[in-house]
Amino acid sequence: MSTPSVPSQVPHHVIPSYLNHDNLGPWGVYLEQIDRVTPHLGSLARWVETLKRPKRVLIVDVPIERDDGSIAHFEGYRVQHNTSRGPGKGGVRFHQDVTLSEVMALSGWMTVKNAAVNVPYGGAKGGIRVDPKTLSRGELQRMTRRYTSEIGIIIGPNKDIPAPDVGTDSQIMAWMMDTYSMNQGSTASGVVTGKPISLGGSLGRNEATGRGVFVVGCEAASKLGLEIKGARVIVQGFGNVGGIAARLFADAGALIVGVQDHKSTVVRSSGLDVAALQAHITATGSVAGFAGADEISDRSQFWGLDCDILVPAALEQQITAENAHRIRAKLILEGANGPTTPEADDILHDKGVLIVPDVIANAGGVTVSYFEWVQDFSSFFWSEDEINLRLTRLMREALAAVWQLSVEKKVSLRTAAFIVACTRVLEAREMRGLYP
Ligand code: GLU
Repeated sequence: MSTPSVPSQVPHHVIPSYLNHDNLGPWGVYLEQIDRVTPHLGSLARWVETLKRPKRVLIVDVPIERDDGSIAHFEGYRVQHNTSRGPGKGGVRFHQDVTLSEVMALSGWMTVKNAAVNVPYGGAKGGIRVDPKTLSRGELQRMTRRYTSEIGIIIGPNKDIPAPDVGTDSQIMAWMMDTYSMNQGSTASGVVTGKPISLGGSLGRNEATGRGVFVVGCEAASKLGLEIKGARVIVQGFGNVGGIAARLFADAGALIVGVQDHKSTVVRSSGLDVAALQAHITATGSVAGFAGADEISDRSQFWGLDCDILVPAALEQQITAENAHRIRAKLILEGANGPTTPEADDILHDKGVLIVPDVIANAGGVTVSYFEWVQDFSSFFWSEDEINLRLTRLMREALAAVWQLSVEKKVSLRTAAFIVACTRVLEAREMRGLYP
């Protein structure tokens, strides 16, 4: 995997001293993307450094008593990248490879995503460096509650609203909501989104990210003249995003011809049975050993599979200069955050591959999080049809605006999305002015 060091145009002093300057990781990718949009920002470029420095970074120690009586400590983060347009908003990731650089980059992408689809939030992200699968349910609950209590000093329904991300789900959100509410002395359902329906969660939230990928995928495919019926789709990551997007594509007549997860890669040229694969994953935890497919042992072969649409829906920095030239898809829908490095972006652009960037393609999740937050504040809940209709409309409009700008300015959809988003954020910054 190529790991960017300081991007060429970023002066050294802009890199926070608390990051490793020789290996910036995902934050380096984010900075490079900001550099690429800067020439398009006109007079607002004067404010651009605000996007290169997170507003607030909180690192917390999360100690728990394990079931065997020993004490374990975990490293937790909450980064509020920007709050110019509203409270911080973004998920919480539980994964063994979480780093500060990663959480910072994810928080920056939340700022851009929320502005790109015009929901009234800044950007934030959190995480704990832990493999949640190694914890018992009791340990997971204790860790989640202690983490919530530690970051409780900076989150709140009007300050910063966490949500699920990789390794977290509606149960974790329920524990977070309860812990925050206990500390406050009253129920604060608007402090997190992605909650269970019985606790003020929204219908459609669980499926929203995958549904959004599907909606923008259909729009982009029709612009390319690509029929969804019969289109061959490959998906990396088969969790809440990739699994649901795959099901919706299959329901629309597409063939899911390859799936890769953390353990294995399975292929079937006539199309996988998505429901059966989902049942296999629920039973075994992975696509490995699925009877209805052939398994490929060399993971890197996934990228060269013959297909029309590629959906990276796992982790960041997966599509790199090393594998980009092998990709045969005409259309890439970024279900994951930050799956493509800037070098790979250039290679794919030269090959004529269309990329719908993460900040649009996976914005369905935070869009329905916004609907959930609005419903919680008004204590009035909408039907699933209404939520899906509003989600579809908002995603289509966001993609159409970005598409038009990309044609006008002759730039990629990513650069166009960053132009729209960064302009909104920096206009807000300029109008608010600097305090004091
Ligand atoms: N974790 C999701 C994302 O990366 C959702 C964030 C949210 O709903 O706040 O967009």
